This record gives sequence, structure tokens and C-alpha cells, in this order.
Amino acid sequence: HAKTHGKGQVALFTPAMTSNLVRRKEIETDLRQALKNDELSVFFQPIVDLHTGRIRAFEALVRWFHPEKGELRPDEFIPVAEESGAIITLGNWITLQAAKAAAHWPDDVTLAVNLSPIQIRAPGAALAVLNALREARLPAHRLELEITETVVLDHSPATANFIEQLSEAGVRFALDDFGTGYSSLGYLDKYPFKKIKIDRSFVSGLQAGKTSSAIIRAVSAMGQALDMEIVAEGLETLEQVAAVREAGCTLGQGWYFSRAVPDYLARMLLDQEAAMHAPTSTRTHRGK
Ligand code: C2E
Ligand code: MG
Ligand code: MG
Ligand code: MG
Repeated sequence: HAKTHGKGQVALFTPAMTSNLVRRKEIETDLRQALKNDELSVFFQPIVDLHTGRIRAFEALVRWFHPEKGELRPDEFIPVAEESGAIITLGNWITLQAAKAAAHWPDDVTLAVNLSPIQIRAPGAALAVLNALREARLPAHRLELEITETVVLDHSPATANFIEQLSEAGVRFALDDFGTGYSSLGYLDKYPFKKIKIDRSFVSGLQAGKTSSAIIRAVSAMGQALDMEIVAEGLETLEQVAAVREAGCTLGQGWYFSRAVPDYLARMLLDQEAAMHAPTSTRTHRGK
């Protein structure tokens, strides 16, 4: 990305640009080995019913524990994987791992998986998802795919086919990071979204002023009118939970409830919840 300054003059890469580029190249190279070396895993963050407090879904979030660099954030390596094309293999692997984990959960607990636009436009993308479901023995209605506005705004036939094919199979779609892009509303009508996830920035803006709260309220009202559920992302405090519930959100997700946890902990959370709601006669009394 060297900038041109006037006639035939090209600025050199600054040290910061160079090290950034080097890091991206390293990540690109290391990512190819990461899958084979077992450095990647899929974690799960609960999505909670704001009225009953029960877990309604888990969102699958990829984690990379690099042997030298430590934990790398998906916000850093997913864009690199998208640029190199590795996202297709990586994404299919994530869907399969997540589906295998979800196959052990109760039937009414949904699995949410993030999909990159690159993955969706790849040939055979819908088939790859269906194959993962089949291999994991997870019914299609248990899966919800989280996509962002950039996906639906690309107006490509590949995207439309992808959504149509999987919807027909029973897979559901959620609109992720709502409010951060154009938030053009036309596509809400065109595509079968069952859920809208309000971006974390609105939740963190709740303390600051009344605007975020008014926006959350308006989006919730729209969701209700369109028969879509509204999820508030990034809930970190009880005050935020109370505020978004009051504003009409039905579902919530965030560190207040839990961070993303490994699959065995997700199962443990579900087991505990089942025990808590079991008839009293079969409940084990602890601490007595
Ligand atoms: P996203 O899909 O919007 O996921 C929500 C992000 O918010 C996650 O970050 C999650 O850990 C974080 N988060 C959840 N609750 C809180 C909270 O209370 N406070 C704060 N500050 N953050 C919270 P994460 O796991 O780092 O992922 C970042 C983004 O990377 C995701 O945003 C998604 O766009 C992408 N990503 C993550 N996993 C995958 C994946 O498996 N496939 C694809 N294609 N993208 C992924
Ligand atoms: Mg998401
Ligand atoms: Mg999001
Ligand atoms: Mg995001």
C-alpha cells in the first residue's frame, strides 16, 4: 500500500507498515500449520433468554493458542485467513467441530456459527455446511448461521443461493453486528432472518447517553413487528442486562453471563441448568 507522492515518487514503507506486513505474513504461514498442530479450538459463549435466564444457544467462537505468539484474536487472524483463502478450510473445520459439540446438547439449544463472506461465496459452500451437519448428526434446525450486512449487501447470486438452499434445509440465519454498517433495512424483508444481533457498541454506549437506549428500543420494536428475536451483544454488567431487557431485547450475550468456554464447560453449564430445573424429587441437595 505504498502511497504515490507526486510524479513518479513513491513513499517507502514505514517501519510500522513493514512490521505489520511481516506479522500478517507470519500469521498466514503459521495458520497453515495451526490446524494440523492442534493449535486451534472452538469455544462456546452462551446466549441467554433475558426473561427466564436459561441458555437458548451457544455461539461458536474460534480460538488460536499460538505456541510462540500466545493467544491470537480472531479479529486479527480471520481477516488474514480471508485474504489468503484459508478461511474456507478453517471455516468448514469450525462448523464441523461446533456441530459435533452441539450434537450432545439438548434439542432446544441452538448452535450459532459465524460465517465469513468469502466462505459463503465459495463454490459448494452450502453443501459443505450440510455435510458437516450430516457428519456430526446435528439436525439442520439446530444450526443458526451468523452473517453480517456485507454478506447480504453484495447482491451476488452465490450468496442468494447459499441462503436459499440452507433455509430450505431448515438452517436459520441471524444478522450479526447490526448497526455498525449501513443498516439498510431493505434486505430484512428479502432474507429470512430469525434474529438480529445488536452490536456491542450500542450496549457499551448505554451508560454514556440516552441515544443508544433509544436505538436499542427502536430495533427491538422493529424485531417484534417482523417476528425476529433481538439479541444484545457484549453485556458486561447487570445494569446493561436490565437496560436492554427493559428496551425490549429478548436475548442477551456477554461476559456478565459467561465468556466463551471450551465444549466440556458448555456441556457442564447445560447439565447444571438441567439439574436446576429438574423436578425436586430427583434434585440432588448439596451443601447440607
Ligand atoms: P462476533 O461474531 O460479533 O462475536 C462476538 C465477539 O464479542 C466475540 O469476540 C466475543 O468473545 C466478544 N464478546 C462477547 N461478550 C463480550 C463482552 O461482554 N464484552 C466484550 N468486550 N466482548 C465480548 P471474538 O471471539 O474475539 O471474535 C471477534 C470476531 O471474530 C467475531 O465477532 C467474528 O466476527 C469473528 N469470529 C470469531 N470466531 C469466528 C469463526 O469461527 N468464524 C468466523 N468467520 N469469524 C469468527
Ligand atoms: Mg457472531
Ligand atoms: Mg457480533
Ligand atoms: Mg463482530
